[in-house]
Amino acid sequence: MATASNRIRRITGDGSDGWDLFYRAKDLIRQGVPVTELTIGEHDIKTDTSILDAMHAAAKAGHTGYASIPGIPELRAAVAKRAERLTGVSTGPENVIVTPGGQAALFAVHQFVGDPGDRALHIDPYYPTYPGTIRAAGLQPSSVTARAEAGFEPLEDDLEAAAAGARSVLVNSPNNPTGVVYSEATLAGIGRVAERHDLWIVSDEVYDSQIWSGQHLSPRALPGLAERTLVIGSLSKSHAMTGSRLGWVIGPAPAIDLLWDLSTVSNYGIPGFIQDAGVFALAQGPDYETRIAEPFRRRREITQRVLAGQKTVRAAPQNGAMYAMLDIRATGLSGEAFATRLLDGERIAVLPGESFGSASRGHVRLAMTIEDSAYEDALRRLMDLAARLRREADLADRHVPAQVG
Ligand code: PLP
Repeated sequence: MATASNRIRRITGDGSDGWDLFYRAKDLIRQGVPVTELTIGEHDIKTDTSILDAMHAAAKAGHTGYASIPGIPELRAAVAKRAERLTGVSTGPENVIVTPGGQAALFAVHQFVGDPGDRALHIDPYYPTYPGTIRAAGLQPSSVTARAEAGFEPLEDDLEAAAAGARSVLVNSPNNPTGVVYSEATLAGIGRVAERHDLWIVSDEVYDSQIWSGQHLSPRALPGLAERTLVIGSLSKSHAMTGSRLGWVIGPAPAIDLLWDLSTVSNYGIPGFIQDAGVFALAQGPDYETRIAEPFRRRREITQRVLAGQKTVRAAPQNGAMYAMLDIRATGLSGEAFATRLLDGERIAVLPGESFGSASRGHVRLAMTIEDSAYEDALRRLMDLAARLRREADLADRHVPAQVG
């Protein structure tokens, strides 16, 4: 074939996209090996049939032609109303553009925030598509570590040290992979750095309906930040609509107009019947979103209960999102080695913390996406393995001869 661009070749960076364990688990499942799958952030329920009925009815009624590129007015208005309800920030349809899922929204905003060669910040640990999404826009990803010891929240000083010359900072709260919900103080610190260095804040809030303790706070709601914040949202997690590919960007109207230009030359809008289903889904209101989030709330409680009273495995502050990030450093293994032992020995698939950057080394991430009792059983087997490995590591330590001299 003729030569591919460097830009597209570099999307995956070192060639690994962080999902190796996931692909191995899928291969085993294909071979008929029973594997408890806790790798991917997808509900164990399907999109509700009432939403599918609305989609079907819209298609039958003829909403199958080109749809309005930035989104049909009803959907832009419904997304704006939801944002206003959640954040209190005045939001109109002109502040919203509809995209094919939150991922396409992330892609679009990074085309918007800087020019080829510019730096774009993101926080480590991170959702694995982040660096590639930034590189696909020709920008250079630059990560700022959020340390396990700081509860995986980024510190203002660390952001400040990385911010000179950057164009944007990508934050994600509630966070995938850690389950951490950023405090107001953290978000205010991010805001101060953004103001000092004239950065865009790209705020990925696709988990805004999954809050287990405290409150979801958007940086867009903090004083003075709305004009430099672009919020990424999606119905994937809040409405169990991952396959519908329905997301959005919320931001200042002139930014939305420019993203509209990008949409015209990329996806050219998303299917009208899916947008109609989105309007129907959003009309179900906040109780519906609470219902969709409920299984993860329960499994978060299971996690806390099973982990209580032991010190081998610790959970990161688990205040939101559908994940448990477990610190297994006491076993003496890396996250990768532990996840491999767990898959090989117990047939339980989890993702190593190393898949999400270097700050979550020595951790594994569990997606709480299977039925409660199966989840509890898998968690207990994981804990048993960790306890066995810890005992082995302790014994090995005791057998190291004392140093002489
Ligand atoms: N952002 C984060 C943090 C995610 O975890 C995901 C999906 O798992 C996405 C964005 C993309 O979601 P979608 O494209 O399905 O809206």
